[in-house]
Amino acid sequence: MIGVLGGTFDPIHYGHLRPALDTLQALGLEQVRFVPLNQAVHRAPPLASPVERLAMVRAALASEPRFVVDGRELARTGGSYSYDTLVSLRADLGPEVPICLLTGTDAFREFLTWHRPMDILGLAHLVVMERPGSPAPSDPDLLALIDGRGGARRDDLASSSAGRILFQRVTQLDISATRIRALVRAGLSPRFLLPDAVLDLIDQEGLYRA
Ligand code: ATP
Repeated sequence: MIGVLGGTFDPIHYGHLRPALDTLQALGLEQVRFVPLNQAVHRAPPLASPVERLAMVRAALASEPRFVVDGRELARTGGSYSYDTLVSLRADLGPEVPICLLTGTDAFREFLTWHRPMDILGLAHLVVMERPGSPAPSDPDLLALIDGRGGARRDDLASSSAGRILFQRVTQLDISATRIRALVRAGLSPRFLLPDAVLDLIDQEGLYRA
């Protein structure tokens, strides 16, 4: 069973890394693949280039062999859809391997507005990592979906390849890339919110200053 965490990673920080490790350990995932998005569809474009974001993800994951950088989205032009990423991963991994798409609660709240959400559930399980400051979903259609697919446990995920929803408790770290960018822009240090190796790249390249 493998995990997939897509994101803009502009930059990657401990709010991505520790919850992903909590989830890997709680569910017994073999690996978590970090997939930097070329251009997220529902938000402003990232400030750092794809090459810079990929380099930051690589630096952040270097010490954890079960975390894998997956640059497949950056090779594609235009908007990045989780659906396309999962189709491509399924083609690589075959139909049997359970794939868990990891999202924070904030991203999951918008799930039904994503491109082909029900087809996503045909390709992967959803694992929702509780994120501080993000309220539980309240949209009735999403609640109905959780009613039908939720309540899953680790064994339910491992025994089927896709289609279930699991809420995973993770270390609560109130860290966002938005705040890190704002600190750097204000000339303040974001140190200890993200790995030093990522901060070194931000400093070297002069990212987020202007
Ligand atoms: P930004 O502030 O630029 O919107 P972000 O910090 O939310 O960025 P993303 O790259 O957009 O980071 O997030 C990728 C995924 O990681 C999303 O599913 C998001 O919900 C999740 N995530 C990000 N930060 C946290 C956190 N602190 N705790 C749990 N999940 C998180």
